[in-house]
Amino acid sequence: MAHLTDQEIAAKADIQPIEDIAATAGIPNEALELHGKHKAKVDIHQVEGDVNKSKVVLVSAMNPTPAGEGKSTVTVGLSDAFNKLEKNVMVALREPSLGPVMGVKGGATGGGQSQVLPMEEINLHFNGDLHAITTANNALSAFIDNHIHHGNKLNIDPRRVTWKRVLDMNDRALRQVVVGLGGPSRGVPREDGFDITVASEIMAVLCLASDLMDLKEKLGQMVIAYTYDRKPVTAKELEVEGALALLLKEAIKPNLVQTMEGTPALIHGGPFANIAHGCNSLIATNTARKLADIVVTESGFGSDLGGEKFMNIKARKGEFKPDAIVLVATIRALKMNGGVAKADLGEANVDALKEGIVNLGKHIENARKFGVEPVVALNDFVTDTDEERDFVLNWCKEQGVRVALTQVWEKGGAGGVDLANHVLEVLDEPQEFKHLYDLDLPIDQKIETIVKEVYGGDGVILADKAKKQLAEIEANGFGDLPVCMAKSQYSLSDDPTKLGRPEGFTVTVRELIVKAGAGFVVALTGDIMTMPGLPKQPSAVNMDVDADGTSKGLF
Ligand code: ADP
Repeated sequence: MAHLTDQEIAAKADIQPIEDIAATAGIPNEALELHGKHKAKVDIHQVEGDVNKSKVVLVSAMNPTPAGEGKSTVTVGLSDAFNKLEKNVMVALREPSLGPVMGVKGGATGGGQSQVLPMEEINLHFNGDLHAITTANNALSAFIDNHIHHGNKLNIDPRRVTWKRVLDMNDRALRQVVVGLGGPSRGVPREDGFDITVASEIMAVLCLASDLMDLKEKLGQMVIAYTYDRKPVTAKELEVEGALALLLKEAIKPNLVQTMEGTPALIHGGPFANIAHGCNSLIATNTARKLADIVVTESGFGSDLGGEKFMNIKARKGEFKPDAIVLVATIRALKMNGGVAKADLGEANVDALKEGIVNLGKHIENARKFGVEPVVALNDFVTDTDEERDFVLNWCKEQGVRVALTQVWEKGGAGGVDLANHVLEVLDEPQEFKHLYDLDLPIDQKIETIVKEVYGGDGVILADKAKKQLAEIEANGFGDLPVCMAKSQYSLSDDPTKLGRPEGFTVTVRELIVKAGAGFVVALTGDIMTMPGLPKQPSAVNMDVDADGTSKGLF
């Protein structure tokens, strides 16, 4: 049988009316705002339940290959496995960005037999959340330029406007632009640039807000520029936080959809995992916690990046604790960490696995540092060999860590029952979750703690610019915010070529940027891209649509 694409598999799936899924989840009809037959927004004020009764399972991973290791796929498959075991479960996921959809990585709706539906609509525009965020972000840019044009009462230095425009597309030509050209009636010329929408602080704010009023307050706190005498200027000083919140009043509502096996899924928000914290909205996670006994959710990239930020930023702000951590590992990522070139990852190579498995070892250690016991999900590929599988499974057993061969991509929930049973064992044990640092620790020491404890490095070097910014951040009263590390996802260090489990390295912080609305300080290391480019052969060239609206070539 010819291999079906994710989109073809999804098109054959039975999809239930969203009202039925809401009933399964315990969401009352009055809380449902229908977007067609299979999607709804949820009015969270009409959803009742006790968040403290629910257990949160975080799906994280080892350091990935550029193709992704199947975290979303395992997150969906694990929730379907719990469903099969008749547990009251919900899954909370991030929403896809059109940049990766049209580019190279693909969507964010899982894969194979473990997908969320309707995959096409979720991957394209969804319920308009990303468009609303783009509009709010760019409205703020317009307000800033307008303020400068009309006399600049706030004394904004046009060279120090930190707020950038955004677009939900990979468009490298817009990374640096000049706006306001064309003479006095066209505004004040200044350098600007575009980020991808998921890198907008508004996305991070939406994902960390507890409700619409909290969103408004956080939007007002966003630092958008500095004055000629280097004082931060906030959105509130422009008096536009109300308008921005208004533009987002629908986007803040979480979106209800379903997995291919009918498990209720909330998909909401999707901040970048490098420049921002990389997890779906707190509102979606907490709504799922009200409704379900088990909530399965994911964080971006590996445990060193998205995982650490889930613990130190999201869980702290949301005042909850993860009760179990699933670490997704693949044989191809282990081989890549053992030094195999990308083009050769398809070939069996147990020697490379032996070299690369130390990477997984560090991620296991990391979960335990947060006081939460991990379960390794070996995401099975049909191209993996038995010898390779046995090596990884035995290695985990020797290390005393739970492991499950996970075949959810091929078999759906049935392929994740073993994983689910291991996770249930962990959920039955008391976990001593802790954050790795206290908020009153100075910013540089917070970074040092992360580097030493999570990355396994020796320490931190602050570049001169970062040192200056550190002093400013502390003087401006932002010193007690958590840190959001912006780092390569490929390595535990800040150097993407250092694979496996590097040792003896230091991490250089180039810049520190306050995101006072989101409530964290971004520490930029290495070369972090906030507006990706498209590859030579973007996925878009395989896409098409028929006269009746049927699409093809999504993934
Ligand atoms: P991540 O969330 O880690 O970025 P995804 O779950 O989005 O990864 O998966 C990335 C891609 O890999 C998707 O196209 C998915 O269909 C594919 N994939 C995931 N797991 C498997 C597997 N076990 N076998 C084959 N393809 C897989």
